[in-house]
Amino acid sequence: MKILTLGTRNPDKLKEIQEILLRVPVRLRPLPADLPEAPEEEPTLEGNALAKARFYAARTGTCCLADDTGLEVDALDGAPGVHSARFAGSEASYADNRDKLLEALAGVPGPRRTARFRTVVVVCTPGGDCLARAEGILEGEVLTAPRGDGGFGYDPIFRPLEERRSLAELSAEEKNRLSHRWRALNAIRPQLLGLL
Ligand code: IMP
Repeated sequence: MKILTLGTRNPDKLKEIQEILLRVPVRLRPLPADLPEAPEEEPTLEGNALAKARFYAARTGTCCLADDTGLEVDALDGAPGVHSARFAGSEASYADNRDKLLEALAGVPGPRRTARFRTVVVVCTPGGDCLARAEGILEGEVLTAPRGDGGFGYDPIFRPLEERRSLAELSAEEKNRLSHRWRALNAIRPQLLGLL
């Protein structure tokens, strides 16, 4: 069976990707512990996803799937976007980033709190070729206070348009049936199957 390395050091993302790709006939392999962290300095989600996939594919000698995700808030002209992980600073925790976003949106009324999660996912070879690429978008709004304790990152303050609950109030299965990551991985699935 073919091996696909999952190019993320984020255990929350790793778990979701493994669950969503469960039935793809490929051996999903987490990153070896001794690899350094890939640089994430590109100005776009696609650039960062490609940089991560190429970095880890070259070092593992296997094809690598990597994603990059951002939360785009309309009232902030698309911020934090590609800077979502470091919105409140380079050492920021999930809670720091959420607090900073809630602060930035203080006083912004419901109809103007629209936002979307965007995930770009790519698969690269050890030689650096990109074999597959897809995007997933989840539209919704930023809540005024955190709700729920599931998920990770901005999930407690994001409500998908089609839901009354925040992403953090959904079960893992429910999130994985509608999320931006699910949409991106579902879109890349046929390309992945074509490579096997
Ligand atoms: P990354 O650069 O793709 O690892 O993700 C950037 C940041 O976006 C993460 O540190 C999280 O704060 C946030 N993020 C990524 N995916 C999700 C998600 O599915 N839900 C909520 N926040 C997320």
